[in-house]
Amino acid sequence: MADLIVATGNAKKIEEIRRVLEGTGWRLRTPAELGIEMDVEEDGETFVGNAVRKALAWSKASGLPALADDSGLEVDALAGAPGVHSSRYAGEDATDARNNEKLLEALSGVDEADRSARFRCVLAFAQRLRGEPGEALELDRIPVPGDVRVLHREKVYRVRTFAGSFEGRIGAAGRGDGGFGYDPIFVAGDGRSLAEWDPEEKAQHSHRGRALHAFEEAVRGEAFVR
Ligand code: IMP
Repeated sequence: MADLIVATGNAKKIEEIRRVLEGTGWRLRTPAELGIEMDVEEDGETFVGNAVRKALAWSKASGLPALADDSGLEVDALAGAPGVHSSRYAGEDATDARNNEKLLEALSGVDEADRSARFRCVLAFAQRLRGEPGEALELDRIPVPGDVRVLHREKVYRVRTFAGSFEGRIGAAGRGDGGFGYDPIFVAGDGRSLAEWDPEEKAQHSHRGRALHAFEEAVRGEAFVR
């Protein structure tokens, strides 16, 4: 068994990832179990930049391979906003309700046909390598999906990235009381808001579910170094 740290304290994400790793030879460790506390600045310009920053920081701090994610909502009529700023769209003290309100306001007067949007999720897996050359790649420019060698603080890491997206549109008003974040105002192809979806169904088909599935295929397939 090889240990792998997941860069989140979110119990739901931890459970999902644990399920994906079952029978793969990887044992999931959490920051809480290892007694590591750390807040990594998510100041990248892209989802991949933020996910890779987190994975590298957690790998360095724990000495283990690390898996991290970043996600958010892109609205076409707003040139991809709120994007990497999704959680703080309405400001530093933003709540889900205020973010949703601000987004509905920003789209007031925009026709249904022009309210297309998608959730995106990028997963990054970083693993320290010894004695092999790497490149000082800009983290925001790492390809997705990708498998590259990166020089980070004079150490070489193998960084693998996986992506998932989920298409829909922003509704005229919030609906449903499940989910979190922008779920109430995000309308899927079936006409229901994501807050009206069954959680299991959402976990399978969502941007995060799809990115996790891509990771699962990789970790169960080829020689995923242990
Ligand atoms: P994080 O990647 O978990 O930090 O999520 C970033 C932000 O994107 C969240 O705070 C939400 O605002 C938004 N977001 C990400 N995934 C979802 C989702 O599945 N539903 C609703 N909002 C989401």
